[in-house]
Amino acid sequence: MKKWNLIVDVGRCHNSNNCFLSVADEYQRNEHPGYSAEMPLHGHRWIDVKKKERGQAPMVDVAYLPTMCMHCDDAPCIAAAKDDAIQKRNDGIVIIDPVKAKGQKHLVDSCPYGAIWWNEEKQLPQHWNFDAHLLDSGWVEPRCVQSCPTGALRSVIITDSEMERLKSEEGLEQLEPEIQTKPRVHYKNLHLYKKCFIGGTVVITDSGLEDCLEGAIAVLNKDEKKIGEEISDAFGEFKFDDLEPASGAYRIDILHPEYTSLSVNVELRESIYTGVHALTPR
Ligand code: SF4
Repeated sequence: MKKWNLIVDVGRCHNSNNCFLSVADEYQRNEHPGYSAEMPLHGHRWIDVKKKERGQAPMVDVAYLPTMCMHCDDAPCIAAAKDDAIQKRNDGIVIIDPVKAKGQKHLVDSCPYGAIWWNEEKQLPQHWNFDAHLLDSGWVEPRCVQSCPTGALRSVIITDSEMERLKSEEGLEQLEPEIQTKPRVHYKNLHLYKKCFIGGTVVITDSGLEDCLEGAIAVLNKDEKKIGEEISDAFGEFKFDDLEPASGAYRIDILHPEYTSLSVNVELRESIYTGVHALTPR
């Protein structure tokens, strides 16, 4: 049985918010009987783009994280719903019934991802339902995927075993792995939002002048074991990414055959720029 999945590439999201706007356009002032009541004009973000800044000047990056209903296979919202108000379809999509769910405000708290929104006027819990009404009428992808200008969102309808293979081939991850709900939304390059980096700049000093040093070898060590190696670029910069936040002490050895080496000790809490490291000729 083929089922829907959504793949979110954090490395491609530029915060255009076209996904959010396509949801607003599809559901505000529009009712889709059997699928969804109207979305309120204000206050709801069924697809929400979160932002995370990492590092310090001059080495700073920003990651954007689109979030939405994960269409979990083991969905706590389904377990919490009365009168079968939330159903899992055979194609993997979770639907909150806009009639049966009326008055069930407790469903908002049942979702561990915060993906259910309360419509006060209609007394309804609501979520992004994968645009099921469009897919059922022949669309090949939901509007958020169609409208994303950078290809950060991709939908696939494949079997679960094919999806497992895709997850391992592309290194896809779950947003909150500790939440065991078997989500059908999978993330690529999630480290850009969830993990940390250690970076720095290597320069040479010659006759009192500083110049960026390309080709220096930066070796990252933890507990006296080498765990990574990077080569400084044309700006003398190196960056070790995908490190656990608050993961303790690291040492960076900076080496170059023509210059004296040096070591930098770092205590990692959040992403850190270690500054400018000057090597001198041997
Ligand atoms: Fe239900 Fe929340 Fe999972 Fe969506 S993300 S299926 S609303 S538990």
